[in-house]
Amino acid sequence: MKLILAKECGFCFGVRNAVKIAENAGHAYTYGQIIHNEYVTENLRRKGVIPIETLETASFGDTVILRSHGAPRSVYEEAKVRGLRLIDATCPFVKKIHGIVAKASEQGYHVVIAGKASHPEVVGIQGWCKESSVIDEHSDLRPLLAFDKVCVVSQTTFAVEKFSVIIKKIVKLPFKTVEIFNTICYTTIERQTEAERLSKECDAVLIVGSKTSSNTNKLFAICTENCANCYHVQSVSDLENLNLRPFAVVGITAGASTPSELIMEVKEYMQQFDEVQDKDFIDAVEESLTKYREGKRVKGTVISANEKGIQLNIGGKKDGLIPKDEVNVDGSYDPADFSAGIELETIIIATQDPESGCLLLSKKRVDQIKEGDKIVETIRDGAVFEMVADKVTKGGLLGKLGTYTVFIPASQIREGFVKDLKQYVGKKLRLTALEIEDDEKRHKIVASQRKVLEAERKEREDIFWANVQPNVIVNGKVKRVTNFGAFVSVDGFDCLAHIVDLSWNHIKKVEDVLTIGESYDFLVLSVDREKGRVSLGYKQLQPHPFVKCIEEHPVGSICHGKVVSIVPFGAFVELAPGVEGLVHVSEAAHSFVKNINEIVKVGDEVDVMILAADEAARKITLSIKACTPDENKDAEKPQADTEAKTDKKPRRSKPVKQDSNDADSQWNEDIVNNPFADLLKDLGEDNN
Ligand code: SF4
Repeated sequence: MKLILAKECGFCFGVRNAVKIAENAGHAYTYGQIIHNEYVTENLRRKGVIPIETLETASFGDTVILRSHGAPRSVYEEAKVRGLRLIDATCPFVKKIHGIVAKASEQGYHVVIAGKASHPEVVGIQGWCKESSVIDEHSDLRPLLAFDKVCVVSQTTFAVEKFSVIIKKIVKLPFKTVEIFNTICYTTIERQTEAERLSKECDAVLIVGSKTSSNTNKLFAICTENCANCYHVQSVSDLENLNLRPFAVVGITAGASTPSELIMEVKEYMQQFDEVQDKDFIDAVEESLTKYREGKRVKGTVISANEKGIQLNIGGKKDGLIPKDEVNVDGSYDPADFSAGIELETIIIATQDPESGCLLLSKKRVDQIKEGDKIVETIRDGAVFEMVADKVTKGGLLGKLGTYTVFIPASQIREGFVKDLKQYVGKKLRLTALEIEDDEKRHKIVASQRKVLEAERKEREDIFWANVQPNVIVNGKVKRVTNFGAFVSVDGFDCLAHIVDLSWNHIKKVEDVLTIGESYDFLVLSVDREKGRVSLGYKQLQPHPFVKCIEEHPVGSICHGKVVSIVPFGAFVELAPGVEGLVHVSEAAHSFVKNINEIVKVGDEVDVMILAADEAARKITLSIKACTPDENKDAEKPQADTEAKTDKKPRRSKPVKQDSNDADSQWNEDIVNNPFADLLKDLGEDNN
């Protein structure tokens, strides 16, 4: 079979750029799928990049990537209103179309877009027009006659010949002005031309890409016009059910949204299949031509056995020798066990022993192979087995399991494309059999490590999502930081600790609290499996500064603080970073205070007494006056004493206006400490 890979296929410039941006974005949303390919979308999802259909799903400060298809103008505006961080990965060619239609709309043109109305690129273009229509080669163009001026553009992936059909019709219509812009992307034209050429040359064509990809579907349509055997292949597993053996020349092409890994996997799969056939054939021919060769199995009869090993008659001109180390797998050897005449099965390990000139044989290797063959019986139902890869072959790795040749296609070594197969030679692989061929001549197993790794990953994910619940404490390693938080790896999964959840105090950067590479305990704040998001909190596991503050300053103690804000009913005093208490206006001074600004202002440092602390409500009640002597009271004392001695009358409990300039003297201690002080004061003033 001859394979021909299209010269132009796979990721175009715009798609490659958008995917690269998404891969490096960390936790982010994409506005729709970044490209129409499930393989790429799934890979990005694992990296924390999730597609969303509406900006409502994102929260303030989240990152949203606009894909290469572009988006309507309204999306930019909405993102701004919602406080989202936009990364614009719109392809420059699409952006150019936005510019053309926006300008044409300003100039009063009706915009006509040749394309598919539901395609996101077309939706995006329409979002930059005041008035627009979407047409294809079958559309009735008469409604367009309602407009004097029309501006025609095309979807970048629109088929060239269809666009020319439309243009021929439009130029015949009696518009006052028609502006036509061929905005079909050059990469689309190249891929379509190449697909046409390829499909004319080949007996069968594989078109690799998603079934939701517009440009891949167009390539498929072009190929089917020229070749009867065209197959739309989404991944290498689609090939397993196809019988491509009868075709002598097979072409491979792919849409602009198909990653090169997928194309290479398909190509490698086709090559390896062919390779194994050839190898087996050559082996069979070699075996028939060579009587004694290394690795060949021979049976023989024991002639004698001594300390050196076992002498064997193998029926030809040469005798064979089994050295004592090659007798049993466990290294044991007793010559008495091998009396003359016993038949043994062996493998030739050297065609000539330098000492004796005999063939050198191994019995233990046959035993090992039989052991391997027993394992084959246990792996038929998909059980995992281990094998060391011996060598690289075209399209994959080869190894041995008993009498079976095990082939691991390159696409089945791990998730993702493997460029350098040599790195796996000599390494132990954990495999599951995809196919076991027991033909007498061909003992072959096609195996996959990728399936084992995928199953393990899935299991890890299930366990992770089952265990990670809100309010659970997890340990995670800080992988990287951004200006909005830290990405923390918990059991291999990326979680986000937002900067506001790192410290009870205001911090400028994540590194003020966390160090990259260090592990910490975090509290799980929220979990969203669908979006693959876990939010963590660090500060929630740290003592709140309030608790520390009230431990250091119990009720009744005096501490020093700074006035941080003034409100109509008092002043807030900061006692420690993040901990503030309230001095009610009635606690600002011993005398009546109408406006607390008379006593303190923002920035003043004051001594305050802790009157009360409510841990649950995180409230502290403070008093300034409790830290200062009550001059009024002190002044009244001798007088009271005198009264006691001379008059025996009780102290005044009602305000008595003595001197309008002496406000302090209007209130005695009882009234000042009364919660209805203001009311009583007013009543007192009325009475006077
Ligand atoms: S096909 Fe062309 S216009 Fe579309 S993303 Fe690729 S490079 Fe950009």
